Amino acid sequence: MAKAQLADTYISPEQLTVTITGPTVSVSVGADLKIYRVHKALLIHHAPGFKMRRPNQSPGIVLLPAIETGVFNLLVHYLYIQTIPNEEGDAFLILIERQMDAGGFAPIWDVLWACISAYQFAQEISATGFGAAVNNHLVGEWPDGSCELNSGAKQSLLAKAFEGGRQGQVMQQFLIDDYCESDWDDGEGDEGELSANVRLRCMRRLKELVVQPQANSELRCYLEHVAEGERDACPKLHMRFDDSIRHGVFE
Ligand SMILES: [Zn+2]
Repeated sequence: MAKAQLADTYISPEQLTVTITGPTVSVSVGADLKIYRVHKALLIHHAPGFKMRRPNQSPGIVLLPAIETGVFNLLVHYLYIQTIPNEEGDAFLILIERQMDAGGFAPIWDVLWACISAYQFAQEISATGFGAAVNNHLVGEWPDGSCELNSGAKQSLLAKAFEGGRQGQVMQQFLIDDYCESDWDDGEGDEGELSANVRLRCMRRLKELVVQPQANSELRCYLEHVAEGERDACPKLHMRFDDSIRHGVFE
């Protein structure tokens, strides 16, 4: 694992003491510009790209109107205890400001939307550990075969996951693989929402499944291993993004 990814670790007790007694920064988030005050040193430690954001209108306040408060809540949770809560209980749903549906289940499309949005935000602010935690949460909690429930919803989220042209995320490959293993005929899909790039990657994955049936996703690891040695200890195959074919290769 690259050194850059190891930089995001628990803050030491000594550093934490300095952090708690140090300055806070005000961040105004979402359409309603909700104000959060977070410890500046924690923000810089876990999201080094954040310091580049200069207050533009209100002096002393960083404005993030395009970020949903549910997504920022996940970041704040991560800043203070370096985890994303799983979906046992409803801590995750409370953070993303959603509720169980009438059947008592987590609203999976809202969960997926929040994870994709949070991952994209993590990339914007160089929050490597937070991004990994979000990716790993999604991979761990996503119920296999959910695409079959409503492929129209899945397609719009797939399109969102590939917004901005950033390629090479294991989360994107996870979504492609999951999508390709669902029954395409079952949904009310509008494939017009999928970009040529996403369709091409679906084609590559479907071809893999035909010519190499052993390339199934059970053998693939979609986690982002951040801790040193974790990836080497993992028995599954890991992704290398092949730029020439714009697709993930597992080896
Ligand atoms: Zn692994």
